[in-house]
Amino acid sequence: MSAAPGSPYVVGLTGGIGSGKSAAAAVFHELGAAIVDTDLIAHRLTAPGGAAMAAIEAAFGAGVVADDGALNRPAMRALAFEDSAARKRLEAILHPMIRDESERQCRAATAPYAILAVPLLIESGAYRERVARLCVVDCPEDVQVARVMARSGLDARQVRAIMAAQASRATRLAAADDVVDNAGSLEALRTQVARLHRDYLARAAKGPVL
Ligand code: ADP
Repeated sequence: MSAAPGSPYVVGLTGGIGSGKSAAAAVFHELGAAIVDTDLIAHRLTAPGGAAMAAIEAAFGAGVVADDGALNRPAMRALAFEDSAARKRLEAILHPMIRDESERQCRAATAPYAILAVPLLIESGAYRERVARLCVVDCPEDVQVARVMARSGLDARQVRAIMAAQASRATRLAAADDVVDNAGSLEALRTQVARLHRDYLARAAKGPVL
């Protein structure tokens, strides 16, 4: 896709679970970038009154809808886990809506450039052509495991199972234009993000070229 005139320069931001995508996005945001977060969009689509809920109820029945009208996540997860066709049907409902809404938000952004945060950007392949540049947040796998355990209460085995279903660290790094090394402190993360921010401002000033 080529960017519409006036739409900002878009940088894709990805990384494995616990790598520090959200932490990096928060710093980009503080520095003045627009953040378009596909996780947040997915959450809103499936919140009470969310735009995906009618289609989800029609496809899977009232059993996957909670009393407040939101997606009943445990019920949907159980269904998707035992039935891969159900998972594909759910994705067929959600993914186009997420793509459309993220594109709308990128176009509407008034910041000098937009960060499009997509946890599974490498895996889905769907966003690569929409971003002018791809930034990968990276840290050693042991650090990922420790951070996710501290954040979520999952055990190491569960975290490693999630990681095993994601692209490998090497695959992500091979696809990156820019890498944020988040093995160190939050201060070190901030320094690297600030440097990239200056670079993205300069690239964006040249126009929204893809
Ligand atoms: P992701 O969005 O990639 O899953 P997060 O940004 O949520 O990862 O980071 C995972 C956890 O690790 C969070 O609790 C976050 O606060 C913490 N974290 C991220 N970067 C660092 C860092 N450099 N030092 C210490 N803790 C960090």
